[in-house]
Amino acid sequence: MSGNTDMKLIKNGVRLDGRKPEELREIKMELGVLKRPQGSAYVEWGKNKVIAAVYGPRELHPKFMQNPTKAVVRYTYNMAPFSVDDRKRPGPDRRSVEISKISSEALTAVVETEDYPNTVIDVFVEVLQADAGTRCAALTCASLALADAGVPMKDMVVACAAGKINDHIVLDLGKEEDNFGQADVPVAITPLSKDIVLLQMDGKLTRDEYSKALNLAVDGAMQVYEMMKKTLIGSLNRKE
Ligand code: UDP
Repeated sequence: MSGNTDMKLIKNGVRLDGRKPEELREIKMELGVLKRPQGSAYVEWGKNKVIAAVYGPRELHPKFMQNPTKAVVRYTYNMAPFSVDDRKRPGPDRRSVEISKISSEALTAVVETEDYPNTVIDVFVEVLQADAGTRCAALTCASLALADAGVPMKDMVVACAAGKINDHIVLDLGKEEDNFGQADVPVAITPLSKDIVLLQMDGKLTRDEYSKALNLAVDGAMQVYEMMKKTLIGSLNRKE
């Protein structure tokens, strides 16, 4: 997010990839893509490719990490070395630890953790290809994998970002827009209760712009939720 406004990212209402300001990238979703975990999902979001796997609830070890009143939702976000232009050094870094922490908190808000004291529900997300917006794609994919695993949840979690490029508020920033735009606001909501379970901001926005970006991101997330519902219903029909 350099805020380098010299780069033309939007011209006559058309963005570099041909999208309109309020248009999402193309999204594809698939459930049950892995045979070993209890649940799994794969999401392509523009050029992002992410896969999520869910294990548990299972007893948490070491025992001192257990919570006697509820399950711990552990989230591990990892970027493959080949997922980005400059090879990503394998292993956790400050960014992945941060994304894992906030995503775990977002999912904890919806999982019926009280039903499973002393256990852990492990969610692993691997970013196979990154093109901006991976934390939103990853969290949405994780929510689908939890549903695929049959983990009881009050609601889903669905994420989407909005931001500012060349002084325009736009939905779902792509890589150049993320690199050279002015602001990025990733948001995750629970679509039924409409709670915000994740909200971050990189860059600068006025109050009005912030409010517009937030509303746009929530609208985008609701569109993504419609796709999630179709994917879940399709998967249920196949299982029957
Ligand atoms: N990125 C990268 N190397 C890194 C981290 C990020 O090339 O170590 C790229 C990647 O394409 C990512 C984008 O920068 O999607 C934006 O990263 P950001 O930290 O804003 O998170 P994201 O938008 O993916 O949630």
